[in-house]
Amino acid sequence: MQETLAIIKPDAVKKKSVGKIIDRILQAGFIVVAAKTINLTQAQAEGFYAVHRDKPFFANLIRFMCETPIWVMILSKENAIEEYRELMGSTDPQEAASGTLRRDFAETITRNAVHGSDSRDSAYREIAFFFSESERIAAS
Ligand code: ATP
Ligand code: MG
Repeated sequence: MQETLAIIKPDAVKKKSVGKIIDRILQAGFIVVAAKTINLTQAQAEGFYAVHRDKPFFANLIRFMCETPIWVMILSKENAIEEYRELMGSTDPQEAASGTLRRDFAETITRNAVHGSDSRDSAYREIAFFFSESERIAAS
């Protein structure tokens, strides 16, 4: 089994899509190993997306991620990182395949409903960024 870090972003929270997105995740066979809501501070959002700090969209991205509390989850499945990226669809919802979370729940390339780790290294870093061992609610 592999773990990945998933986030339901403020656009999806505002549109009351959280339940539908979690249902899709469960129907796709992922196990929720840990979950919580968190209201990111600007500093936390900047830390989480530090790799993008020099990009032109960075300020918008940080402002967006702090609009509402977000939902963060550790998901477990065989090949979880790649499979969850597939379930999410392309970064730009307009380019995301039909049946993907971003195609069905996202608005724009910034307001794109969900996040998923893009590699083993980022999954490890992102899980540690949000969760301590004692917050795990299910064996992975
Ligand atoms: P995430 O890391 O959130 O899962 P991703 O890996 O598909 O998304 P990244 O390239 O890591 O995409 O970009 C991080 C986030 O920054 C995107 O999810 C999106 O919210 C925003 N973003 C990325 N590219 C752009 C862009 N060209 N214009 C505006 N916002 C962007
Ligand atoms: Mg990314």
